[in-house]
Parts: sequence; structure tokens; C-alpha cells
Amino acid sequence: MSQIAWIGLGHMGAPMTANLVAAGHTVRGYDLSPAACETAAAHGVQIVSSIAKALDGADACFTSLPMPAHVHEVYSDEEGIWAHADTATLLLDTSTVDIATSRWCHEESAARGFSFVDSPISGGTAGAEAHSLTFMLGGEKDATARAHAFVSAMAGHVIDCGGPTSGIGSKLVNNMMLFIDMLAVAEGSQLAEQLGLDQEVFYQVADSSSGQSWPQRTWWPVPGVVPTAAANRNFDATFSVNLARKDCSLAVAAGEDAGVPMPAASLALAQLDELIARGLGDKDTSLMTLFAVPEGK
Ligand code: NAD
Repeated sequence: MSQIAWIGLGHMGAPMTANLVAAGHTVRGYDLSPAACETAAAHGVQIVSSIAKALDGADACFTSLPMPAHVHEVYSDEEGIWAHADTATLLLDTSTVDIATSRWCHEESAARGFSFVDSPISGGTAGAEAHSLTFMLGGEKDATARAHAFVSAMAGHVIDCGGPTSGIGSKLVNNMMLFIDMLAVAEGSQLAEQLGLDQEVFYQVADSSSGQSWPQRTWWPVPGVVPTAAANRNFDATFSVNLARKDCSLAVAAGEDAGVPMPAASLALAQLDELIARGLGDKDTSLMTLFAVPEGK
């Protein structure tokens, strides 16, 4: 079994490290948030007080951080990964970042003698808890081949997407499709409500018909239908509006760069911006359903 360093023990990092520990790996975890450390410690993660201590003897180092700026800092800071890791340690970033940040991680890691794999994930907190995440691996062939041994305990699917940044490119396109699907679920759930349909019965119809989608099965935005949905818990975030806004804006920017018109993704982005403007950035992305609630309801 392996020694694993893990930086960032939040909504995703906590259940992912719990699965590594359950599979028999030793995980040394570091996070700035005492609450995040406490949750991870309860699952058997050894909490340490610095990135350097997490890296001590590590076979692999994972990052699971909110924004590209955090990835820049955690890699390049004088207390960070490049300053303290051994070049034998495989570096994997599971965060959702822009392609330029991921390319920078690859190039700067290679210049320092490290192997880096962009390793973004899909499946949300429910997938992380159920160790059924999809990992999208991008990197040099020998590095992505090594990555499999470390990610398998957290994954339902591990896909070798190709060379450097192909994992993060796949992730950005995938999440753009998720937010567009969420627009359909938001409007569908509210239209079903206003037509007087039984929510549980309509959910079954959509689930076994052509309206099926991942947010339909996982994020149904009306309470009492899908156990994993944030709607059951006052829309407390499983995947926050702030993070969704980040992913959607990265995809729309990638579309602009590539000359691909994206009217639906732009609408999803406008709704996410509006939720943030209303002070709801920490709430769950399934709150996009607010825009389909009839006036006065
Ligand atoms: P999160 O905000 O819950 O967790 C991130 C953690 O990183 C926090 O606990 C924070 O304290 C910690 N952190 C920030 N800066 C740090 C630093 N300098 N050193 C150490 N720790 C630091 O976010 P999350 O929902 O767990 O998402 C993590 C990443 O995974 C994001 O890039 C997100 O886009 C991506 N992602 C999230 C989901 C989801 O459903 N939540 C799904 C797929 C991918």
C-alpha cells in the first residue's frame, strides 16, 4: 500500500481520502480549515501542519483545491509542493482549473524533474462517497500509467484522455454539459409542479425516459425525491454555485478561444452570476431552479 500526501480536504477531498484510507493507503492530509481537518481525521487521515510534512515519504501527492490561484500557490509557494516534494513523488491535481493553469503545472513540474498528471474528477460528493468517480487523466504515458494505482480506490471509471491537459479539457466540456442539463432539470421540475404532477412519479418518468440526465438523477431540485439532492437540506452545497460559476466561465472562455458559440452555456453562466449577486454563492448549484419558479410562489 502507498503513502499519499493530500492537500485540500473539503467537500471532495474528505470523502476521497476516506476511500484511500479504507483501501489501506496511509494518507497525510493538509488543509487551512480546522473543520475540514477534523472531518478528515475522523476518517483516518493523519492531519499534518504543513505541505512539507504531508509530502514526507509520499509516493503520490494529490491536490483538491477551489480555484486556479490556490493551485498556483500550493505548487509554487516556498512552503509548497515543488519546494518540498521528492521528484519520485507523482503529482496529481484533481481540482477543476483552466487549461493554462494545468499546462503551467505540467511544464513547471517537468522543468523541475517531476511527473504531473492532470486528474480532474466527475461524480460530485455522492460519487466521491461511493468511490464511483470518473477520473480523467492527462499526461505523459508513463505518468498516467502510474496514476492508476493511486486513483483506483476512489474511482468507478479511470479514463486515459491523452497528453498533458487532455484530462482538464475533457472535464471543462463535461461540466459545461452538466450546467446545460441543470437548466432543463430546473425548468422541468418547476413545470411538473405547476402542472400538478406528482414529483416522485414524474421523476420516475424522466428517469426511465429521454429526459434522463445526471443532475436529474442526483440533484433533483424539489425536496423529498432524490436522497442525494441538496434540496433536502435547504440547498446547502454539495457543489457550490461559486465552484459551478468557475467551471462554467472556464468552459465559456474556452469556447470563445475556440470560436465555438455557446448560447446555452452562456445562459447557465448568467444564472450562476445572478445567484452570486444575490449572496447565494455558497449554496448548491441546483438552486438554478429559482429562475423557473413562477412569480409570487
Ligand atoms: P472545497 O472548497 O469544499 O474544498 C477545498 C479545500 O481546499 C477547502 O477545505 C480549503 O480550506 C482548502 N484549501 C484552500 N486553499 C488551501 C491551501 N493553500 N492549502 C491547503 N488547503 C487549502 O471544494 P470542493 O468542493 O472539495 O472542490 C475541490 C475541487 O474539486 C474544486 O476545484 C472543484 O471545482 C472540484 N470539483 C468539485 C466537485 C463537487 O461536487 N464539489 C466535483 C468535481 C470537481
